[in-house]
Amino acid sequence: MPEGQAAGPVALEARSPYELRVNLGAGVAETDVRTALVSGEMGFLHSFTTGSAVDGPGVRVVAWTTGCMWRCQYCHNPDTWTMTNGIPVTIANAAAELGKYRRGLKVMGGGFTLSGGEPLMQDRFAVKLLAAAKAMDIHTTIETNGYNGDRLSDAELETIDLVMLGIKVWDPERHRRLTGVEIRPTLEFARRLAARQRPIWVRFVLVPGLTDDPADVAQIAGFAASLGNVDRVEVLPFHQLGRYKWEQLGLNYTLNEVKPPTVEAVQKVCAVFRATGLNAQ
Ligand code: SF4
Repeated sequence: MPEGQAAGPVALEARSPYELRVNLGAGVAETDVRTALVSGEMGFLHSFTTGSAVDGPGVRVVAWTTGCMWRCQYCHNPDTWTMTNGIPVTIANAAAELGKYRRGLKVMGGGFTLSGGEPLMQDRFAVKLLAAAKAMDIHTTIETNGYNGDRLSDAELETIDLVMLGIKVWDPERHRRLTGVEIRPTLEFARRLAARQRPIWVRFVLVPGLTDDPADVAQIAGFAASLGNVDRVEVLPFHQLGRYKWEQLGLNYTLNEVKPPTVEAVQKVCAVFRATGLNAQ
């Protein structure tokens, strides 16, 4: 897919987000990390993949940032929680790398997705990289938990063609137990995107015994349908691919006994979303 040679040295190479990555940015001084966060001239990426068909419309280049303030019990990439686990990369190099795929992405009706971790932990870097993609006429998507959505100005929202918004669970207490934080900022961000008519795909991870309460799912469906800007709902079955990361990082993984949901269970939840008029899959 690349059109030609890199426009200079880059710190990126395509790697799977499922690889455990730690301390790749540990050599960067804390003051430099802080300066980078303020300026957005440098960011930290866990990995960088090409040819993804599951991270937004069409075929995507995906950059996975490090840094997340949430602690979801089912997180499959806990190595992304710590920002300095990622590779430090300048905005110029990240944009140059992305530029190599510009023509191929156009032909395949795809684009660029910034995922994580939580990309808006590095909001200035995210804004600059998304703006660089837009300047190259590349479709832009961000996958976010929405918690830091208020860090983006209205003008900056315009540089994002699609927001893939994770809604984890509806009940506030359950949300706090599952993620460690409150749900309110996520819902406020969703309402703000709706008011500005910015498209959303809702992502909902179905975890048996944790997020599958029928009344809770119905609340999320009702909320999503009421927004008017949700083009799609993706019901993602829980899996155990990230368990080894929890073990290797010495973290307390509490879902060892949880099995992925059945196909029927996923279909049942999709039906709840569809019953509200949403396009769910
Ligand atoms: S918001 Fe995403 S990256 Fe952060 S802990 Fe939850 S699942 Fe993991």
